[in-house]
This record gives sequence, C-alpha cells and structure tokens, in this order.
Amino acid sequence: MPITLYNSLTRRPEPFAPRDPQRVTMYVCGPTVYNYVHIGNARGPVLFDVLANLLRRHYPQLVYARNITDVDDKINTAAKEAGCPISVITERYTEAYRQDMAALGIAPPDIEPKATAHIEPIIAMIESLIASGHAYAASGHVLFEVGSYAAYGALSGRDPEELIAGARVEVAPYKKNPGDFVLWKPSTPDLPGWDSPWGIGRPGWHIECSAMCEAHLGETIDIHAGGVDLQFPHHENEIAQSTCAHGGKVFARWWLHNGMLTFDGRKMSKSLGNVLKVHELLKQHPAEALRLVLLRGHYRQPLDWSDDAVTQAVSTLDGWYRVLRDLAEVALPEAPLPVPAAVEAALCDDLNTPQALAELSQLADAARQADAAGRQAAKAALLGGGALLGLLQQDAEAWFKHGGATEVDASQVESLLEQRRNARAARDFKRADAIREELSAMGVVIEDGAQGTRWSVAKA
Ligand SMILES: [Zn+2]
Repeated sequence: MPITLYNSLTRRPEPFAPRDPQRVTMYVCGPTVYNYVHIGNARGPVLFDVLANLLRRHYPQLVYARNITDVDDKINTAAKEAGCPISVITERYTEAYRQDMAALGIAPPDIEPKATAHIEPIIAMIESLIASGHAYAASGHVLFEVGSYAAYGALSGRDPEELIAGARVEVAPYKKNPGDFVLWKPSTPDLPGWDSPWGIGRPGWHIECSAMCEAHLGETIDIHAGGVDLQFPHHENEIAQSTCAHGGKVFARWWLHNGMLTFDGRKMSKSLGNVLKVHELLKQHPAEALRLVLLRGHYRQPLDWSDDAVTQAVSTLDGWYRVLRDLAEVALPEAPLPVPAAVEAALCDDLNTPQALAELSQLADAARQADAAGRQAAKAALLGGGALLGLLQQDAEAWFKHGGATEVDASQVESLLEQRRNARAARDFKRADAIREELSAMGVVIEDGAQGTRWSVAKA
C-alpha cells in the first residue's frame, strides 16, 4: 500500500519514495527544555509517532531523530529566575519531557541529539558557510547572509526581496541586511559559552538542527517535520544553512507541518491564562484520551482543544474497552497482531487519522457483534488497528479501574462489593444501597449484569 504525504515544499501530496529504502531518515524539531510543555507541544510528537509506526511497517530501518534544544536564552532566563545552574533546568525539563511523551504513548525517537553535544559540528558548519560566502562574522556574531541564497523563502512562500528589505523593526548594526539571521553570538561570562574562531559564544537556534541532521542522518534526509509555526523562519533558515553548506544538495525531500492547537477557539498563550501543561492534564485525565483528542483532527488543520473533546474521547475509549472487556476470555492468535487494511489505508493517505479512527470504531462495532467463530479475528483486528495508532494499549480492566481523577484502592472496592453481595443475599437492600452510595462517593461506578457486578472508576 503506497504512502502519500503532502509536501509543504511543493504544496501537493506526493507518493512517498525514500532515497534509500534501507535507511529512511526523519527529523522532527524537538522542545526547548526550560519548562513543562503544553498540550499543543505534544500534537506533533503524537502525530509523527503514528507516522513513524506507519513508516516502520514499510521501511523497518527508519531512523527517526528528534532533538533537544538545551542552549537558548529562554533557558538562561529560567535558570536566573530559579537561581540555579543552567544544567539543572535543562536536565529537569528534558526528563519531564521524556516522561510526558512516554505517558502519551509516544515511543522515544531512535536518536535524541542535544545541541550542546554538537558544538563542534555546529562550528564546522558555520566555518564552511563563511568560506563559501554565505555567512559573515561581525562584532563577535556570525550571520547568515540571506541575499546569498536565491531560493530563500521558497518553503514559506515569502518573497525574499521583501524579507531582505521589508523589516521595519530596529535592525542590529552588525547586520548587512535586516533579514540576515544569527548563526553564532557572543557570550558574557555569566552565560553558557564555547570557544570558537569568533570568540567565546553560543550557537543561534536554527543552526543546531542543520548540524544535527548532518551528523546523524546525512546531508539529504527524507522527511523533516514540525509545527507550522516553525515553517518561518526556523525551517526556512535550516534549508538555507544546509543547502548552502552542502553545495546546493537538497536538504529535506519532504516537509511535513502540523497545524496548531487552539483552546476553545483561542490561541493558547500565557497572557490568556489558558496554557494547559501536559503533566497537569495527565493528573486529571487518562493519557490515552489525551492522545485520542490529538489524533481526532487531520494533522494539517488546526485542532481545537476543549473539556468536551476530552470527555468525548473518554467515552469513545470506554466503548472500545467495553468491547475488549467482553472479549477478555477470547485468546489472541500467536502471530503478531494483524494491521487492518482500512486503518492502514487511511494513514497511508496523508496520515488521515480521523479516517483511521472512524475505521477503528467500525472494527469495535464488528467485534461487538461478532459470533463465536469470528470473535478471535475481530478482537485481533481491533487491537492491531489500535496499536498502529498507539491506542488500546492497556488491559481493558486496567482502563476501567485506573486513570480517573482519583485513584481508588481496588481491594477496598472488592471488599465493599463482597459486603454488598452478602447484604443482597440476606435481602438487606438498605445496606446494599448504602454500599453502592459509598462506592459512588469514591468515584466508583458499578454495573450489575449477567456476568456479575463490574466496576469502573468515573473518569470525567
Ligand atoms: Zn529545527
């Protein structure tokens, strides 16, 4: 089944054909580690995790890199405010990021390069840009000369003339042109700095991605992805740096950009007070429900986050897990889980996750209605489709008994249910009702059915 991906660079969907099917390369711009990330920062990682799952089915030797930006002025400010060394901030939030991503079911990338571990290749790339006339040193800075690269602006569709001449903001005196951007800047002793041909300094942000792509994936990579907010200037600058450092060779063959997350129709921002941190949301909602919300919209469109969307996702997962709980006794086949063609076809069509989720719902319906002969295959298909999307990754009982806003003590619940059974057997319905009330106050919902009494933790 061929994969088609919309390429932001050519502005059309194109059948994906890697340069070397034996080594497919993908790079995603990662976080700047100075704080906990918000849910909008998790959208790209969730989507590109699904893309990595899909690509690995076709090309098992996928090499997926997602970087950590651990040198940045925002980090310096955070360290100053906290009164601690910079490394304390970067290590704390790198770890927090890994935990948040893991909780959302995102597999770690194959390579997680850090900017500070790549100062040498960064300096080497800047030197080569100076040598080839694409960059210049001035007042301790090194700048990329945008006018030296004719294709500048091609990705974002901006007019290079305008970019060079149009800046109305105050321009730093060391810049030849307002559009020129920083590759290297000087550091004072209180800031992180490395020795370089231009004095003690630190890299600008854009150059790290170019240098780390080259170091780990090569001069030309198959896929470069990130949020659409990075398209300009970050990705435009990455293209300029890498293409000019590599004698005009194509840098990234496919560019993928995910749309932004809004919150109840508004942009998420500190000033609006609607910044939702992943680690806070994880305390209130099941992680899989958060992941499901992020997959509900097509990746190229903006996606609106709301409490309702989370409640709906919980209820969808409740339905799917109910099917799996009813099929708990049905053994799975020995072989790896099958990937249902309809789910895969949806993802092959420019990562159409809303369609893939619709197909998963159909599989859940089919499994609910399956007769004895079809149950095993139907259960395997539902789980196989879920696995490709990173959903339905836990035991059905675990879904119903954990992950609510409050954790409950399972043995205490079981003991109360036992007392309730005894009360009902003794026709003491008043006592039985009182126990139900007590469980309800604990956030436990009980259902009496043919297979006895089942319980779950209320999630929303
Ligand atoms: Zn980047």
